[in-house]
Amino acid sequence: MSPNAPESYIDVLIIGAGPAGLTSATAFAAAGGINVRIIDQRASKISVGHADGVHARTVEVLQSYGLAERMLREGNQLYMYAFYNPNDAGEIELTGRAPGVIAPTARFPFVVGLHQGAIEAIFLDFMSQNNLIVDRPTRPYAMEISQGQPHSPSSYPVKVTLEHLNAPTDGGKTEVVHAKYVIGADGAHSWVRQTLGIDMVGEQTDYTWGVVDIVPDTNFPDIRNKAAIHSENGACLIIPREDDKVRLYVQLSEDVVDPSTRRVDKSQMSPEKLIEVARKSLHPYYLSLSSEIEWWSIYIIGQRVASKYSDKDRVFIVGDACHTHSPKAGQGMNASISDAHNLAWKIVHVLRGWAHPSILKTYETERRNYAQDLIDFDKRYAALFSGKPRTLENQEGITHEEFSRALQIHGGFISGIGVHYYLSAIVNTKHQTSAKNLVIGERMPPQIFIQGADARPVEVHDLLPADTRFKILVFLGPLDGSRLVKVNGLANDLDAPTSFLRKYSIDGQFSHIFDIISIAQGDKFVFNYLHVPQIFRPHWSKVLLDDIDVARTQGGDAYERFSINPQEVTFVIVRPDGFVGMIAPSTALEDVDEYFASFLIPRTC
Ligand SMILES: Cc1cc2nc3c(=O)[nH]c(=O)nc-3n(C[C@H](O)[C@H](O)[C@H](O)COP(=O)(O)OP(=O)(O)OC[C@H]3O[C@@H](n4cnc5c(N)ncnc54)[C@H](O)[C@@H]3O)c2cc1C
Repeated sequence: MSPNAPESYIDVLIIGAGPAGLTSATAFAAAGGINVRIIDQRASKISVGHADGVHARTVEVLQSYGLAERMLREGNQLYMYAFYNPNDAGEIELTGRAPGVIAPTARFPFVVGLHQGAIEAIFLDFMSQNNLIVDRPTRPYAMEISQGQPHSPSSYPVKVTLEHLNAPTDGGKTEVVHAKYVIGADGAHSWVRQTLGIDMVGEQTDYTWGVVDIVPDTNFPDIRNKAAIHSENGACLIIPREDDKVRLYVQLSEDVVDPSTRRVDKSQMSPEKLIEVARKSLHPYYLSLSSEIEWWSIYIIGQRVASKYSDKDRVFIVGDACHTHSPKAGQGMNASISDAHNLAWKIVHVLRGWAHPSILKTYETERRNYAQDLIDFDKRYAALFSGKPRTLENQEGITHEEFSRALQIHGGFISGIGVHYYLSAIVNTKHQTSAKNLVIGERMPPQIFIQGADARPVEVHDLLPADTRFKILVFLGPLDGSRLVKVNGLANDLDAPTSFLRKYSIDGQFSHIFDIISIAQGDKFVFNYLHVPQIFRPHWSKVLLDDIDVARTQGGDAYERFSINPQEVTFVIVRPDGFVGMIAPSTALEDVDEYFASFLIPRTC
C-alpha cells in the first residue's frame, strides 16, 4: 500500500454491485442523509444472462422503492405453468397447467422474466439520480475491525484498504476507507465472508445443469408459458423472457466437474451441446434458433448457508455471499434483494441514533432462518426436478402429482409472499387475535381502500413506501356518536408526552419515524374525513374508508378479511420493510409502548 494512500470516513461501504449490493445502495439512497459508497471489481455492469425471474414479493419490494413500473414494462409477465411428462410411447405430452404463482394474496400474481443486467440497470439509474455511482473496477484487499471496547455508534471501527484496478501504478492505486458499517454483497465466492472466516455449511449435490438464452423457433405449444418437462431423456425447464427470448435449463448427464477443483469446467460443454440436450427432452416437438445464442452457462448445485451473517454487527454479508442453492426455483436474486431490504433500514435507524444497535441482530435471525428454509425447500424441489419421471418401466420415478403437490404446498414460499419472521424485538405476536388473518411476522397483504376525502381508491401498499418509517395503521371502526367520543379520547392519550408517538418525536414531530394511516368504516357518500381527530390524519390522503369504490369494482370488506372487530380500535404496526411487526387493541397501548421501547431510543436520552 502506498504510504500516501488517501483516507476517508464514511457511514457504509458496500462491497459488490450485484442485486444484493445494488438493493442496499438503493435503500440508503432512498433513505437520504447516509454517506455510502459502493464498489465492484467488475469493470462494467453485466449486460446479459444470469438471474431472470423476479417473484411476486420482490416486485412488491421494488414497488416500495418506486421502481416496479419500469420492470413491469420491460419484463415478460409469466402467469401459467405447464407440465409435460412421457406417455406410454415415451414421448412427452401435456399433463396439465396451473397458475404460475400460487399465492392468493399476491398483489402481482405473476413472475417477471427480465435478465439480471436490466434489473440492475433500474437500481443503477435510481442511484445515479441520487448521486450514487458504483466505483469500479475496485476491490478490497485488506479489512480489519478494531478490537477492544464496544464501539460507540458514532465510531468508524472497520478499516478497509481498497485497490483501484485501473489506476496507474504510480498513484491512486490504493485508498483507505474507515466505515461505520460494511456490507459484503460480493457473491458466492465472497471475499468478505472468507476474510471474516465465516464457513458455508451444507453440501454440493450431484445435479449438473446447463442454461442457455435463445430466441426459439419451435412447435412446442407452451413455449410462452413456464414449462417443466420431465422426459425420458432428462429434465428441461422453459422460462419465457422479455421480447421473444426464452431461457432453457437442461439437466446434464455428462460429468463436467473438474475433479481437482470440484467446480464445473465450462470448456467441456458448449451452447450447441446444451441445445442438443434440450431438443432430446422436447422430442417430438422441434426446436431451432431464430438468432444467435445470447448467453449460456453450466453449474452444479451447492446447497449451503453461512454459519453467521455478521461480525460484531459491523460487517454483514448479504445475498449469495451467505446462501447458495439451485437457480431453478429462481430464488437467488430474490433472496438477495430481500436480504438487503431487511438489513438497510435497520442500519439507517442505528446510524440516525433512533434504534439500539441490538436491532441489527434481527437481520441474522430473520434472514438466516429464511435461508435455512430455502435450502430445505431447494433440496426437495431440486430432487423432484432432477429425478426421473415415472413411466411403465420406471415405477419408482416421480409422478406429475408429486411435483405439482410440491408446487401447491410451497407456492407461498416460492413467490416470497409466505416468508415469515419469528418472534424478536421487532416481531411481537401477543395480540395476534385482534386481527387473526393479518399474520404478524409476514408482509402486510395488499388491500384497496377508498380515500375518505375524495373517494379515490388506493392500494394500501402504495402508502407503505420503503422510507424507513414505521406505518401505524389505525383501524378506527365506524365513527358515529359514542364511538367518536372514544376515538377523540384515544387521540388525546396518544398526544400525551408519555405516548410512543411523542417519546420518539424529533423536534416535536413524530412524522420522521412514524406515519399514521387511519381506516374507518363508513359510506363514502356521507363520510366526513374531518371528523377524524387530527393526530389520526397527518394529511388528508391518510384517512381511508373500508368501502367499495364509486364504480363498485374494488375495495371493501377489509375488516372482515383481516378479522378485525370494528367495535374495537385496532393498531397494526407495519415495519419499514412492509412486514407486520405488531398488532394491538387500543386497550393495550402500553404493549405498543413496550414494543417500541424494546428497540427505539427515546429522544430525551
Ligand atoms: C444461470 C443462473 C440462473 C439464475 N436464475 C435466477 C433466477 O431466475 N432468479 C433468481 O432469483 N436468481 C437466479 N440466479 C441466482 C442469482 O444470479 C444470484 O443469486 C444473484 O445474482 C445473487 O446476487 P448477489 O448480489 O448476492 O451476488 P452477485 O450477483 O454474484 O453479485 C456479486 C457482485 O460482487 C462483485 N464482487 C465479487 N467479489 C468482489 C470483490 N472481492 N470486490 C469487489 N466486488 C466483488 C461481483 O463482480 C458482482 O458484481 C441464477 C444464477 C445463475 C448462475
